[in-house]
Amino acid sequence: MEVENTSWNILYRGSLDSCNYDCPYCPFAKKKNTRQELQYDQECLDRFTNWVASRNETIHILLTPWGEGLIRKYYQKAMIDLSHMSTVAKIAIQTNLSCSLDWIHQVNKKTFALWVTYHPNEVDFEVFVRKCNFLIANDIQFSIGIVGVKEHFEAIERLKEEIKDRYIWINAYKREENYYTEYEKAWLTNVDSLFPYNNTVYNTKGKKCNAGHTSFSIDGNGDMYPCHFIKNKLGNIYTDDVKILLQPKQCINTECRCYIGYINLQELDLENIYGNQILERIPLTIK
Ligand code: SF4
Ligand code: SF4
Repeated sequence: MEVENTSWNILYRGSLDSCNYDCPYCPFAKKKNTRQELQYDQECLDRFTNWVASRNETIHILLTPWGEGLIRKYYQKAMIDLSHMSTVAKIAIQTNLSCSLDWIHQVNKKTFALWVTYHPNEVDFEVFVRKCNFLIANDIQFSIGIVGVKEHFEAIERLKEEIKDRYIWINAYKREENYYTEYEKAWLTNVDSLFPYNNTVYNTKGKKCNAGHTSFSIDGNGDMYPCHFIKNKLGNIYTDDVKILLQPKQCINTECRCYIGYINLQELDLENIYGNQILERIPLTIK
């Protein structure tokens, strides 16, 4: 049975897997892409952009590269082009903000947003803050976040002190069980009131999830998956009827750990907190 979905959240991850940073906690981007690999990634992104232009649905997009996209001109161009499309309600990307920012003057500020991560070991604090202030001065919507390892606590404090009118999220470090003391959890929750959501590993098997229904992930070839964490292919956006593939789903994984996953979990009802800013991770009320 065909289900009419008129609004989709799409997470796009192409083949780019290189980065100008080398964060110790990052499992991605530990290689250098060749010219041919970058060329292929560009072709995939162009194809996706053209596909979006051909659709009638209301589309919200988050680009989640396995590396840093915005240091590449073709990612900047895709962001600009997508932001001006009438059916695109949101175009956001995860970035370390190391790129030049002149191109940002060309985006449609109503639909464009950034998910910015601060990596204290890779960039000078002042340089990072200057770039954030540039975004603020130019009315660019963005969230800022940081990985909540203990070595970053001082940097978290500094960032919170410096950037007062933007939401700062903390990604809980969950690779070690009971990593935080009660005091640390309370402190982190004071910095980011939504930290407890992130510091949870959700048991999700059989639970209702919007992934694969109103939200889906695609790779550079256009292969569709419910989310980045389930590798059961639903089909392909270039060869299949996407509307038929999208049906109400229950999670088949035992757990869901990441923001870009659990935002789809129906029982959390996080649209109430983030509204149409959920992909760039900005709560409606900044706390
Ligand atoms: S900036 Fe992001 S992609 Fe690059 S190394 Fe750090 S965590 Fe990984
Ligand atoms: S709960 Fe998480 S892992 Fe399961 S389908 Fe939803 S997004 Fe994917």
